[in-house]
Amino acid sequence: MKQTEVTHYKIHLEPDLDRFTFEGKLEVYLYAPEPVEDISLNVLELALWDCRVLLEGELKPCLFSVDPKKETVTVVLPVKMQGDIALHITYTGKINNKMAGFYRSRYVLDGRERYMAVTQFEESDARRAFPCKDHPAEKATFDVEMVVNAAKVAISNMPIEEEKEFEEGRKLIRFRRTPRMSTYLLFFGVGDFEFIEDPGEVLVRVATLPGRSQQGRFSLEFTRKALTFAEEYYGVKFPLPKLDLLAIADFAAGAMENWGAMTFRENLLLHDPETTSKAGEERICEVIAHELAHQWFGDLVTPEDWKYLWLNESFATYFGFRIVDHYHPEWDVWGHFLHGQTATALDRDGLRENFPIEIPGGDHVVINISTAPIIYNKGGSILRQVEGYVGSEHFRDGLRRYLKTHEYGCASSHDLWEALEAVSAKPVARLMENWIGQAGFPLVEVKREGDRLVFTQERFTYLPGKGKQMWLIPLTVRVLFEDGTSKVIETLMENETLSAEFEKGAAAYKVNDGQLGYYRVRYSERENLEALGRMISEKRLGPVDRWGLQSDLYAFMKRGNLSLGEYLSFLSHYVEEDAFLPLTTIAANLHHAYVISGGGLQSGIASIGARLFQGALDRMGYEPREDDRHTTSILRDQLLWNAVLFGSEKAAAFAKEMFSELAGGRKVHPDIMRGVMQAGAYLGGEEAYGWLTERFEASQSEHERMNILVAMGCFREKALLEKVQKYVLDRVPDRNKFLTIGVMAENVDAISEMWRWFCSNHARYEAFHPIHYERVLAAVIPYGGLGKEDEVRSFFESYMRKTGKARDAIKLSLEKLEIHSRMRRTFNS
Ligand SMILES: [Zn+2]
Repeated sequence: MKQTEVTHYKIHLEPDLDRFTFEGKLEVYLYAPEPVEDISLNVLELALWDCRVLLEGELKPCLFSVDPKKETVTVVLPVKMQGDIALHITYTGKINNKMAGFYRSRYVLDGRERYMAVTQFEESDARRAFPCKDHPAEKATFDVEMVVNAAKVAISNMPIEEEKEFEEGRKLIRFRRTPRMSTYLLFFGVGDFEFIEDPGEVLVRVATLPGRSQQGRFSLEFTRKALTFAEEYYGVKFPLPKLDLLAIADFAAGAMENWGAMTFRENLLLHDPETTSKAGEERICEVIAHELAHQWFGDLVTPEDWKYLWLNESFATYFGFRIVDHYHPEWDVWGHFLHGQTATALDRDGLRENFPIEIPGGDHVVINISTAPIIYNKGGSILRQVEGYVGSEHFRDGLRRYLKTHEYGCASSHDLWEALEAVSAKPVARLMENWIGQAGFPLVEVKREGDRLVFTQERFTYLPGKGKQMWLIPLTVRVLFEDGTSKVIETLMENETLSAEFEKGAAAYKVNDGQLGYYRVRYSERENLEALGRMISEKRLGPVDRWGLQSDLYAFMKRGNLSLGEYLSFLSHYVEEDAFLPLTTIAANLHHAYVISGGGLQSGIASIGARLFQGALDRMGYEPREDDRHTTSILRDQLLWNAVLFGSEKAAAFAKEMFSELAGGRKVHPDIMRGVMQAGAYLGGEEAYGWLTERFEASQSEHERMNILVAMGCFREKALLEKVQKYVLDRVPDRNKFLTIGVMAENVDAISEMWRWFCSNHARYEAFHPIHYERVLAAVIPYGGLGKEDEVRSFFESYMRKTGKARDAIKLSLEKLEIHSRMRRTFNS
C-alpha cells in the first residue's frame, strides 16, 4: 500500500519573462490510509520558502529538507496525520534554457527578441516546475492558474475558466480542472500566441506566433480528421473540451502529447507552401497522428510504470501511420513505415547491446537513442505483425476493450494481452510476451529438402552472439508458379525448426510475404534467390517484397555472411526500379557502404549508384510535376542528391542550375529544395557557404532552416567544413546543432576530421540537451572512429568510468564501430 496518495494539485504561478524566474504557490491534497509522520515529494532546482499543513482549520508550518541527489523534499508533519492532508508550499524557480521543465523558447517579433515560457515534463521534469509525486501512476486532478502580463496569452491543458485583472498590468487566468491524469502530461505556457481554430464538439486550435496562424491551417484540418478517426476507432470520445496544438521554436524532441495541449517543433506543425515539401507534409500528418493517438494511449490510459512505456510509444508510432494511411492511401505510408520504422528497428535490434521492448527493471527508463528504436520503432513493427496475425477487427476490438477497462487509470503489458486474447481465439499472450519480453529478433533460414521446406531460427546479431533464443513466429510463405500465379502459406513457427510441405512445380518461394513479420530471411539455396531476383526485374514481386529481399541481403553483408560484390551484383535486378521503398533503401545502403569502404572501392560503389539513380531520375523527370505521385516527389529529392554525390554529371548540371536560381532569388520547388541545397553545397564551395549562411540568418521558415543545416554538412573542402563546425557551435540554435553534425559525420570528406573536432569541442557537445548529445555520439563514433578504434575505445572507457552520462549511446555506438571496422577489413581483404 502507498503511504500517501495525491488526489489533487492547485498550482498558482507567476512567471516573469524578463528575469526568467517564476513564483509558485502550490496546494497538494493527499490521502493517507494509515497515520504518517512525513510526506515525500519530488523536486528539482526549485527554492522552497515555506511549507505548511492544514491542521484544525489553521496552516501550521512544517520542517522540510531537500535532497538534491534524490530530487526529493521531505515534509515533516507537526503531528502524525491520517486521511485527507493538505500541504501549502511557496517556492520560486527559474524559467531555464534547457528545453526541460518550465523553460524559455526564443523568437523574434517585430525585430525584437522575445521569449515564451512553456513546459516539457516527460519523463521526470514536472518536478522542475512544482513539487509533486512525479511518477506516471500517481494520477491526480489539477487546477492551474497563472498571473501573466495582460498582453500575453496563457495556455494549459484545459480551457480558461476565468480571466480577471490583476495588479501591475497583469491578469489572472484560471483554467478548468483537469480529469485525473499523470504529472508528466501537464502543460502550461505563456507567450505571444495567435490561434486558428475549428469549433466543434471538441474545439481544435493551432497556436502560433502572431502573423503565422495561417500556416497552421494544414495541421488544423488534418487534426480534425484524425480526431474523428481516433474517436471512432478507439470507441472512446476525446475526453477534454478542447485540443490545442502549439508551435514551439525551441524544442528538444519532435512533439509532446500533453493532454489537450500538444506541443510541436515548428516544422512539424507549420506548413509554408513556399518551403514545405511533400515529405514535410507527410511528416506533419504522421506526427500529429502520433500525438493524437497518445491522447488515448498514454493520456487516458497510462503505463503504470516507465518500463511499460511501449504501451504509449509503440501504439502512437503505429497509429501515426495507420491514421495517415486512412486519409491518404495514395501516399503509401506503409512504405515509409518499413523504411523509417521497421528497418531502423531491425538495425538497432541486431546489436548485442540490447534489451526487450518491455525493459526489465526499467522503472527509470528514459527515451534515448538506445531505447527509442526499440520502444517506438520495434514496438510499432510488432503491433503491425500482431494485427496481421489476429486480424484487423480483433485488433481494434481488443484495443477498445483495453481502453475502456483502464480509462483514467494505469495499465501494464498484461492488461493489453488479456484484452487482445479475450476478443481473438488466438494465443496472443504467448505470442506477445515472446516478442515484447525478449531482446532481439529471429533470423529464419530456409532451404528445400525434397518436397519439403525446412525452416530454422536463431537470434540475428551482427557480431557473434551467445545463448539460444526462440520466438513464436507467424510465418508466411508466398509460393510463386511459372504461370504467374501464386499462393500464400501461413503457419506459426513454434520450435527451432519447422518443416512444411512444398508445392510441386513452384518456380520460387518468398518468405515473409508483404514483410509483415519482424524477422530476417536467409535462403540457403542460391537458385531460389536467383529466381526471386528475376522476379524483381520483371516486377512480379511487389515493391515491399523487392525491398525486403535486398534489405536482408545488405544485413547479411554487414553480418559477414555475404560479400559486398554479391550484394552489388544482386542490385542488377533493380536497374528498372522506380518504387520509393526499394530505391530509398538502396540509396541508404549504397551510401553506407560508400562511407565505410573508404579508398579504392568507393568509385565502384559510386558508379553503380549513379547508374541506378540517374536512370530513375531520367524516368521520373528532374523537375517536379503537378501529377507526380506523392512518393515520386519525395524520392526525387533524395535521389537527386544521391546521384550528384555518386558523380552523375547530368544530375549535377541540373542541381547546379537550380541552386544558382535559388541563390539568384528565384523560386525553386520545395519538393527538390533539400537535394538542390545539398548539391549546391557539395559543388558550390565558398560561394555556396556564403549564401547558405546568409539565408539561414534571414529565414523565417523552420523547414528552410533545416534544409540549410542539412546542406551545410555536405561541403567537400576541409577549410569550409571547419568553418561549418564553428558556425554550428556558435550560431545555430541549440535545438538544431546536432543536425549538421549528424550529416557531417557521414560525409566522406569530413570523416577523417570528425574525431579531432569532437575531442576538441567535447565539453560543448556534452552541454547539449542529453538527447542531442547522444545523437552526436551516435553519429560520430561509428564512422569517425574508423581507423582510430583503439583511441576511441579507450577514450570512452575512461569517460564511462567517470560518468554515467550517455552510457547506452556510447556502448551501442562502439558496437557499431566494431561492425563497421570489420566491414572495412572484409571489403579491403
Ligand atoms: Zn510519442
